[in-house]
Amino acid sequence: MSDSFLPTGITRSHGVLHVEALPLTDLAERFGTPCYVYSKAAITASFAEFEQAFASLRPLICYAVKANGNLGILSLLARLGAGFDIVSGGELSRVLAAGGDPGKVVFSGVGKTSDEMAQALRAGVLCFNVESAAELERLSQVASNLGVRAPVSLRVNPDVDPGTHPYIATGLKESKFGVAYADALALYQRAAGLPGIQVNGIDCHIGSQITELSPFVAALEKILLLVDQLAQSGIQLHHLDLGGGVGIRYRDETPIDLKDYAREVAARLKGFGGRLLLEPGRRIIGNGGLLLTRVEYLKTSATHRFTIVDAAMNDLIRPSLYEAWHEILPVTENTVPAVITDVVGPVCETGDILGRARKLAVAQGDLLAILSAGAYGASMGSNYNARPRPPEILVDGDRAHLIRRRESIKDLYRDEWPIPDDL
Ligand SMILES: *Cc1c(COP(=O)(O)O)cnc(C)c1O
Repeated sequence: MSDSFLPTGITRSHGVLHVEALPLTDLAERFGTPCYVYSKAAITASFAEFEQAFASLRPLICYAVKANGNLGILSLLARLGAGFDIVSGGELSRVLAAGGDPGKVVFSGVGKTSDEMAQALRAGVLCFNVESAAELERLSQVASNLGVRAPVSLRVNPDVDPGTHPYIATGLKESKFGVAYADALALYQRAAGLPGIQVNGIDCHIGSQITELSPFVAALEKILLLVDQLAQSGIQLHHLDLGGGVGIRYRDETPIDLKDYAREVAARLKGFGGRLLLEPGRRIIGNGGLLLTRVEYLKTSATHRFTIVDAAMNDLIRPSLYEAWHEILPVTENTVPAVITDVVGPVCETGDILGRARKLAVAQGDLLAILSAGAYGASMGSNYNARPRPPEILVDGDRAHLIRRRESIKDLYRDEWPIPDDL
């Protein structure tokens, strides 16, 4: 069988798809399906690729927790020395529970509550990436009440088009994210005068799944112009955070070579004395995980063939939400003829599609691997249709570690009650 592309950590051996040294057939037997399977080697390698490419700049790599916040994954990355980019108090709690260093945490997001600000200040996070004037005022207040100063970057919106799906472009001027470029200087001056604020750095994050270098370079150049203007007005920054957004190969994309990215950044940061921060999510974990599922039924309608599997949009929503493509491979070779088929889940939505018009040779009971599902897979999962969330397994060589057990049906309504008789 010729597989179109196999990410690091995934191989086909004696006709069977493996993650590291373990056949997916064995993992399905042991943990059931659907289940998420991650490769420790693949995650470790992509983190190391970032570190090595940017080595001369000695950046702090703050892994974006929202890509995959499983404690097993976070603890692995913490051990590798990663910092973390969080977008909620819940993510901060996850990082701390996984043994992450709060001093390496940056807190992003447009809607931080006062409670979340206080939680992060008490934990001692490295920086708040502030996204509006109103947030800045509130943060100053919350910090003053606690008798501290909040370390702050403004997330500046450089108004560059990352050339991605509109739902994952975040750096255009019409976006809800960041502060307008034209307003940034005045807002920094305001920040410098607030009692609860310590101006620390500058931040941008222009989108996700970006496969061209030019939007990153354009954003950096605009940010550096601002850094100069700030210096002229007496505001010195200690770090520059370029955000995440580096894309991966799902199908036939040519991802950015991180060494090229690092070279472009290094060439432009020569005059900047501060530290570089990066916030990669997808590029660290996306290709390090897959969703393993079993074929329940084959079905033919007037116009379509359907392969109905036991995973669904509640487990992996990217195809439904963004029309995203995930490669789908049979775990073992089947000798039945290949057909063009839609791979769909059991959820009661027409949009419950995992792969459209795929050429597959499959029969009922076969296992399929949905690739590149490490990022924005499990973390975007839901319980829609009262479907328990699948287990997550981290493979290390020939060992499989359960890093999340399969949710039970009881877990789903543990915190609900029927109305009492007298209601
Ligand atoms: C989502 C997000 C990231 C990570 O994006 P990737 O595309 O997964 O690298 C980084 N920073 C911020 C502020 C984000 O919202």
